[in-house]
Parts: sequence; structure tokens; C-alpha cells
Amino acid sequence: MKRIILAVLLILFTSTPVFAEINVVATLPWIGSVAKEIGGDRINIVVLVKPGQDPHMIEAKPSMILAARKADLFLFNGLDLEIGYVPLIVEGSRNPNIQPGRPGSFDCSRFVSPIEVPVSVDRSLGDVHPFGNPHYHFSPAEILRVARGMAEAMAALDPPGASAYRANYERFAAKLREREKAWSAVPLRGKSYIAYHKMFEYLARDHGFRIDGYVEPKPGIPPSASHIESLIASMKTKKPDGILITSYQGSREGAFLSEKTGVKLILMPHDVGSQKGTDDWFAFMDRVMENLR
Ligand SMILES: [Zn+2]
Repeated sequence: MKRIILAVLLILFTSTPVFAEINVVATLPWIGSVAKEIGGDRINIVVLVKPGQDPHMIEAKPSMILAARKADLFLFNGLDLEIGYVPLIVEGSRNPNIQPGRPGSFDCSRFVSPIEVPVSVDRSLGDVHPFGNPHYHFSPAEILRVARGMAEAMAALDPPGASAYRANYERFAAKLREREKAWSAVPLRGKSYIAYHKMFEYLARDHGFRIDGYVEPKPGIPPSASHIESLIASMKTKKPDGILITSYQGSREGAFLSEKTGVKLILMPHDVGSQKGTDDWFAFMDRVMENLR
């Protein structure tokens, strides 16, 4: 009996993952998903924003500050997407590890080549993202560089795990390159869409389609009746392939436009987990491409 117990214990211990070495806090679900791929069992992860929430409009909550207080590594999207809450969370945490400039402060956008960087920032142009379009998580090439950056950041904070993080990155990269073949085979070149928000520009760049109009007249500004009227008129001549909306934005206006023009409404996942069956970044991208098809 003793021997059996011993054997069971041995199996339990050898198959139990190593204790997490670093506490990771990520703002957005996609960041959490990529971090899990790279960190595996060596990290504890807390994701602050829920998949159904509008990432532009989050409020810093005490629970978020508490999570940040324990973080060794704080991962965020950057390009000012979370400007309304990340500074409050980081400052409020009083955690020296994750203050700007520290190794535990990880701005994912540092590894990205942003598009639509404005030449000058004029707030009359709406809630413009002053460092470029922040919605780069739809672009595999950008995500690959972010993932590599994450592996290096984790390796620096947890040197005994360095080879594990790099191996996880290699696995992630191989899977991404494989899936990318299927994504790039979706015939989107030359297609055109209308979108609620400037969210799908990286996809348009990567796949050669156009976004011919926005329901928002300016980013972050809801449409007026006259803007909707002129959009309907232009849609009737341009005949776009779909109207792209997300679960938190545009369903009312999108349904109205679709009814007036006959153009189909496409509900896009805006982040990992925002639609059923999009539980990791790969499944999210599968769904994005499936919906555009
Ligand atoms: Zn935006």
C-alpha cells in the first residue's frame, strides 16, 4: 500500500506543472491569450478587461489596481488605446516593478509598426489615436513580433525559464505560420466594406481589401442622421460587401444601414472570447477570417 501511495505521489509530483514563477497582468484578452502561449505553466495570469467590453471605454477598478500590485509583468496594448485607465492602474498599484521604463512594464506596441500615424494631432478630428491605429491584434505579422518580445521579457524576469519561454515562442510561431496559410487564402483582395470604427485597417492592409466608409464620422464620435443619409447614398453606388460591427458597437446603426441598402451585416469578434468559440488568439483569427469570407 505504502508503495502504491508513493508511486501515486511520484506521478502527481512529476506531472504537476512547475509553480508559477512570475505574476503576469494583461489588460486585454488577446494579450492574455498570447501571454499564456508564451508563459505556459510558468506564469500566473490575470486579464483585466472582459471580452465583451469596449477596450476604449474601460474604467480603472480597485480590483484591477489590486491585481497590478502583485504583478511582476504588466502587459498592455499601448498606442494610447488604454490611456483612460492604464496610467491610473499602474500609478495606483504603487508597484515599482511595473512603472513606465521598468522591465515589468511591457507595452506590446513597441514591437509593432503602427499604421495611420497622424502627421499632427487635432482633437477636432475626433478621439484620434495620436500614435497610430492601435488595433493591430488582427495582424499575424505584428503579433509574432509582440510574442517574441514577450518571450524575451519573461526570460529576463525568470532566467531559469528562458529556454522554456523561447521554445514556447518557437511553437507559437510555427503554429501561426501554418494557420496564416489558410488565412491568406481567403479571397478578400479588392473587396470593400463599411465599418463602424477604424478597427479593421490592419486586416485591410494585410489582405488587400478596402474600407470605403465609417458609421462613425470621426473616431469615437457617434453618427448624425445626415452622416447616415450620406453613407446610405454612397453605399448604394459603391455596393460594399458588408458592414462590419462589433458586439459592443454599431448593431443598431448597422441593422438600419443593412435594411436600407441590402448590404449584409457582419458581426466581427473584436477580441479573443468576444464570440463563442474564440477562446484563444488563433480561434479568434479563424473566426475573423471566416466572417469576412
Ligand atoms: Zn479604436
